[in-house]
Amino acid sequence: MLRPGAVCSQDPNSRIDSSRVMNLVALPAFSDNYIWLLHDGVNALVVDPGDAAPVHAALDQLGLALSAILVTHHHADHVGGIDALRSRLQGPVYGPARETIPLPCVPLTEGQDVDVLGLRFQVLDVPGHTAGHIAYMQTDVATAPLLFCGDTLFSGGCGRLFEGTPAQMSASLAKFAALPADTRVCCTHEYTLSNLRFAKAVEPGNADLEAYDARCLVVRAAGAPTLPSSIGLELQINPFLRCGVPEVVAAARAQGAGTDDAVSVLAALRSWKNGFR
Ligand code: ZN
Ligand code: FE
Repeated sequence: MLRPGAVCSQDPNSRIDSSRVMNLVALPAFSDNYIWLLHDGVNALVVDPGDAAPVHAALDQLGLALSAILVTHHHADHVGGIDALRSRLQGPVYGPARETIPLPCVPLTEGQDVDVLGLRFQVLDVPGHTAGHIAYMQTDVATAPLLFCGDTLFSGGCGRLFEGTPAQMSASLAKFAALPADTRVCCTHEYTLSNLRFAKAVEPGNADLEAYDARCLVVRAAGAPTLPSSIGLELQINPFLRCGVPEVVAAARAQGAGTDDAVSVLAALRSWKNGFR
C-alpha cells in the first residue's frame, strides 16, 4: 500500500501524452515533503528523493522500473535518498550544474532539456532559495504541462532565501508566472495551509484566497495533498506572484518596503513571512 496521503491523480490532466496515460503520484516523505513520482505503468521517474524508503515502497507496489531521478537543488531533504536508489536506477541522475549533488549526476542549466519516459523536460534556472536551483518544465504535449519547481514556489508562498537575493527570486517567480495557466505546479513541501494564513494577512479582501483556503482545509482534514496546484490558481492567491497588485503593494509598504517595485515588495513580504506565526 502507498502510505496515506499518497495520491494518484485520476483527473483528465493526468493524460499528458496523446498516446499514453501518465500517472502523477505525490509520495509523502519526512514530515511535510513530497517526492513526485511520474510513471506510465512500466517506467518511472522521481523528483527530489530526500528519502529512498517511500520510493522503494512505491516502485515495488506498482511494479515500476526507475528510469531517472530529477533533482532541483542540493538540500538534504531533496538528495538524501539518491545513493540508496542507485542499485535499481536504470538511467541518469539529473541535477543543477551549479550545486553539489551526489555523483554521478548529469549537470543541467537553463537552455538544456532532458528526455525521460519519452517526455521532454526543459530546464529553468530559478535561483533564490538556493544559488543554483533549477526547475523542470514538461512542455512538449498539448495538454496540461507539468512543473517540478522544488522549493522555489509553494502553493500560496515561496521558498526562503537561503542563498539568493530578492531580485533573483523575483526573476525566478516571473518565469513561473509566464507559464501556461493550466501548468500543474508540483512543489516539494506541504506548506499550503500555513502559507495561506500568511497570504490572508497580506490580502484580507481576496475572495479567491478565502475560497481556496476553505477547500484546502477540507483536503488536509482528509489527509490528502493540496498539490499539485496550478499557475493560474497561484496567480490568484499567492502574494509572492502578486507583487504588482495594489493591495499586496500596500501591505508590503506597511511592512517597510521602500518602493512599489516588485523586488522591494517581494523582499518585504519575504522578511514579514519569516517572522509570521
Ligand atoms: Zn530546500
Ligand atoms: Fe526542501
